[in-house]
Amino acid sequence: DSLISLLNVSKDYNGSEAIKDITLHIKRNEFLTMLGPSGCGKTTTLRIIGGFEHPSEGQILFEGIDIDSLPPYKRRVNTVFQKYALFPHMNVYENIAFGLKIKKLEKKVIDRKVGLMLELVALAGYERRAVNSLSGGQQQRVAIARALINEPDVLLLDEPLGALDLQLRKEMQLELKAMQKRLGITFVYITHDQEEALTMSDTVVVMNRGRIQQIGEPEAIYNEP
Ligand code: ADP
Ligand code: ADP
Repeated sequence: DSLISLLNVSKDYNGSEAIKDITLHIKRNEFLTMLGPSGCGKTTTLRIIGGFEHPSEGQILFEGIDIDSLPPYKRRVNTVFQKYALFPHMNVYENIAFGLKIKKLEKKVIDRKVGLMLELVALAGYERRAVNSLSGGQQQRVAIARALINEPDVLLLDEPLGALDLQLRKEMQLELKAMQKRLGITFVYITHDQEEALTMSDTVVVMNRGRIQQIGEPEAIYNEP
């Protein structure tokens, strides 16, 4: 009953293996974190789950169905990167509404959904602000709202707090975790910060040199020497 399964997934780039024989089952509503040093294969794994990258070997299933046979709109996955990648010429409202406008929803419906998202990320009242007038933490909140407004089943987050200072990072860790539980969305979260992984996750996957070294609940990972 996994939402996402990776079965013996490997990826090599010109003969060098970025990830090797990864088997991983991710449940619905799980907050799963991939932890490990730079270059261990976290981003590659995330990109493969997101369908941005094709594995060299192995299979990825969504609710038991091979993603190769699923059209992109059925994958219901969105992504948040470390660099917020907002549209700089659009204000907060327009950035968040973008994914609904291209679906041609009614303006009234869009307004209501954007309003709910702004409350969720604690930015009510910021609709008309230019995104580059916001702090890093606020910009990342806009990016998260934009990724969540289409109500994906899965949110992939690649070091989303990596560009923020320590204080803000701590606050946003707790916010993100609360948000994830409230919305019931599966989060696959990358970090190289052990404390962050242990604070936020239901499950921690420790990666090393392209392989899974350890997997378990934070307590179990923490108590390992
Ligand atoms: P992490 O996210 O843990 O830092 P990555 O998944 O980005 O690790 O990278 C894993 C390995 O694969 C690294 O050695 C990296 O240089 C290599 N790699 C990642 N993407 C590419 C690519 N597009 N082309 C060549 N090598 C890559
Ligand atoms: P990370 O924060 O995961 O370490 P990187 O800076 O390693 O990210 O990689 C950023 C992007 O560059 C990723 O999309 C990755 O696939 C790509 N990349 C990483 N290493 C290489 C490489 N050696 N050659 C080409 N692309 C790479």
